[in-house]
Amino acid sequence: MAAELLFAPYKPKNLEPKNAIGAKWLRLLDRLALGDTVSGKRVAVKMHLGGGTGFTTIHPLFARQLVEKLKAAGAKEVFVTDAFYAVRDAVARGYTQEVLGCPIVADTGTADRYFYTHKIDPPFRTLSEVQLAGEIMDADVLVDFAHVKGHGACGFGGASKNLSMGCVTDATRSALHRLEGGLEWEEKRCDRCGVCIEHCAQHAIKFNKENRWEVFYHNCKFCQHCVLICPQKAIRMVGGGYKDFQEGMARTTAKILEKFGPANTIFLNLLMNVTVYCDCWGMTTPALVPDIGILAGRDIAAIEQATLDLVRTEDLIPGSLPASWTLGHRGHLFEKIHGKDPHAIIDALERLGYGSRAYTLAEVE
Ligand code: SF4
Ligand code: SF4
Repeated sequence: MAAELLFAPYKPKNLEPKNAIGAKWLRLLDRLALGDTVSGKRVAVKMHLGGGTGFTTIHPLFARQLVEKLKAAGAKEVFVTDAFYAVRDAVARGYTQEVLGCPIVADTGTADRYFYTHKIDPPFRTLSEVQLAGEIMDADVLVDFAHVKGHGACGFGGASKNLSMGCVTDATRSALHRLEGGLEWEEKRCDRCGVCIEHCAQHAIKFNKENRWEVFYHNCKFCQHCVLICPQKAIRMVGGGYKDFQEGMARTTAKILEKFGPANTIFLNLLMNVTVYCDCWGMTTPALVPDIGILAGRDIAAIEQATLDLVRTEDLIPGSLPASWTLGHRGHLFEKIHGKDPHAIIDALERLGYGSRAYTLAEVE
């Protein structure tokens, strides 16, 4: 059965405050019947608080209004949470306890040492366990409040990435990134001619300090030009690359959702300031498409699918990407930009039994 998602469109039907997104956001929260889920409970609101000079993460106003609604719905305790390094300097981007109306907590503790270890059984490639954030796993209810954006390593960041990469220790984040695998270099064949570096349009290849060949997978589009152009046949494609990374993220998401169950999880995807890269880059760049609105629901696969459907190639804003960038011809806008099919994570979530991509949209006026 198709999951019903609520959708508050950014575009107002006229220029009155009651029809602007801030007011629609409050009506959307009212329609979620939060009391049934949070009354008497301890609620973790997982956000990405960004870094550096980025200022297009979720605006603190939306977070404050959410916290107020959760409290009014009877939550025993509410806290906003993110990775320890993002919480450390969140104040620089306007996220404070005074503004949000609740504590802001480092999800694995200030030293990244508070976690629960969960086995991935059977292991997925090199991923045999994940360290899940202690502060989040101790909560009764999880609100996954995600800023939607592009992502160089997996196509896009939404609800699943907000959990799998944001509710774990640094060690698990690295283990997930290692799944990207991808290209293998055979040192004894390579004469360091540099042809691959010259022909990589993504500037993803370099020789490191030890003079060893290295790929920056965030930028790599797996186009395999380097494989084809290498005169020595020193490079080859291995493993599943970004799809294994997405599968690892889906399995980590599943472990988190297993704890809470559908009755204690709310997904909120904010499609505003949809930038090319993740908030962790610590910068703000032009939005790729006009602001779209906010989605809410209880099914992670459905909300991710609706998110991708709303970010459309035909809406790409001219000049939002550097002039030197060329768009691919295949798939979703995020795939044309990053070379990675963003639907792979939805495939994995569905296969693992966490939701279904079928949805209907109920518009919040
Ligand atoms: S093109 Fe091949 S031989 Fe030349 S530097 Fe790259 S990997 Fe080495
Ligand atoms: S596969 Fe393409 S993008 Fe990736 S390193 Fe090789 S040439 Fe660069």
